[in-house]
Amino acid sequence: MNKGIPLKTRAEINAFNGSKMLKVIGLDEFVSSGICDNRHCLLLPNYDPNQRELLSLDWGAVAIQCGGIPSNLTVPVISKLEHPEVISTGDVIVLNENRVDILYRRKSTANLLFVTERCNHQCIMCSQPPKVLDDGWRFEECHQLLELIDRDIPVLGISGGEPTLQRDGFLKLLEHAKKALPSTQLHILTNGSAFEEYHYVEQIIQLGHQQIVWGIPIYGSTPQQHDYHTQVLGSFNKTMHGLYNLGHVGAQIELRVVLTRPIIENIVELSEFIVRNLPFVS
Ligand code: SF4
Repeated sequence: MNKGIPLKTRAEINAFNGSKMLKVIGLDEFVSSGICDNRHCLLLPNYDPNQRELLSLDWGAVAIQCGGIPSNLTVPVISKLEHPEVISTGDVIVLNENRVDILYRRKSTANLLFVTERCNHQCIMCSQPPKVLDDGWRFEECHQLLELIDRDIPVLGISGGEPTLQRDGFLKLLEHAKKALPSTQLHILTNGSAFEEYHYVEQIIQLGHQQIVWGIPIYGSTPQQHDYHTQVLGSFNKTMHGLYNLGHVGAQIELRVVLTRPIIENIVELSEFIVRNLPFVS
């Protein structure tokens, strides 16, 4: 539905500097729910001078999609959006100095928590090659986001990089997701190597989240094929141990196969390997 709509737009933001995460609310929703606080950004298609009082309420910001803006307001006012269609009611946005980023889009079926850009693999076909940097702040951002995402979202992805690199941080995030979005299925993309430690799998199970699908890739029927793709010696063994440990506790596993040329050339062997050795994957 939103194919092609960017996840950020340039904008002018008056009376603001720094960074701020807000949930977008439209006039209809404000009227029906009465919600008005500094965690919300009121979205108006244009400015009507009769609405000045409304704009002076305790909003985190006000976004005006087209036309002029009121003067002398203390609330941050977002205007002159390069792509006004980028922001819709229900979305979660982050304001930066001259930019608005969209972290959650109500109309999308593919929302996710982006936990880190770091990874312990270096896959040859990675669409987002890992970076060496300290991006621990992303966990904090994900926690904030969990509080603002619609409660009835059916599925939420968790991805990176490798989301389990910060083991305790990842456990805390799952715990928070269970509390904030109790009926939402989590679809977690991981290389599975962290689960070679059975104790870590046990810790996850103890959280009692009933709706997790683990999306784990396998790149070959031999260690050589898999490790060639990940560029990490021993990664096949770790991922296989992880898969068995998850299988042992009855976790729901989605096995992911990327069709590189070497994998296509060995697809029959890989299929047979999966059928014989991983019959518990769903
Ligand atoms: S495991 Fe995923 S994020 Fe890490 S390098 Fe491979 S494809 Fe990229």
